[in-house]
Amino acid sequence: MQILHPFTGSVQQYLEQLADPDQHRPAHCPQCQAKQPLTAHGFYTRTIIDSAFDGSIRVRRYLCQACRRTVSLLPQFALPYLRSSVTVIALFLIARLLQAKTLAAALPPSSPYQRGQFWLRRFRAQAEALCAALAALTKPAPAPDFVHRALTMLESAGWIPSHRFLFAGVREHLLGWPRSLAPDGHRAALVPAPAPA
Ligand SMILES: [Zn+2]
Repeated sequence: MQILHPFTGSVQQYLEQLADPDQHRPAHCPQCQAKQPLTAHGFYTRTIIDSAFDGSIRVRRYLCQACRRTVSLLPQFALPYLRSSVTVIALFLIARLLQAKTLAAALPPSSPYQRGQFWLRRFRAQAEALCAALAALTKPAPAPDFVHRALTMLESAGWIPSHRFLFAGVREHLLGWPRSLAPDGHRAALVPAPAPA
């Protein structure tokens, strides 16, 4: 499972503090009831595109000795399963949807336009759920539709604080979980229905 790294700062600052496994070691497992600290369990590598960074970063992983499951600490500028950072996607959505720039003008230089279309499609599909979830963070603003309301709420609460709240608090993905991981980012597991009372 992925949880958010309790770290705020740039990609560069994130990379500089990554060497010390004790600094942000989770005190207990988020997946089982074991109360002992997790053991460091290496890293996985993922790519990230941010305004001043385009490359690979390491993501620290811990292992729970009780349930043998791993927990990785994703930095909060990154979204699970998406290569571009929260900020890059936010700047694009604002430029395209609030400032009505063309797709080409809204995208970061040399990005394929399919990437922008993908973000737009996912954001539009997610907008109503975002408005509902973000109402716990910020006041819903009057807007002609859910897309504009969600953008306004994200702008007022801040994109990264909103992502932190959505992901850590209610297990929602800013652009919606991929179908295989919906509704909460976990691989679908069949849970037997409770017996009728
Ligand atoms: Zn565990």
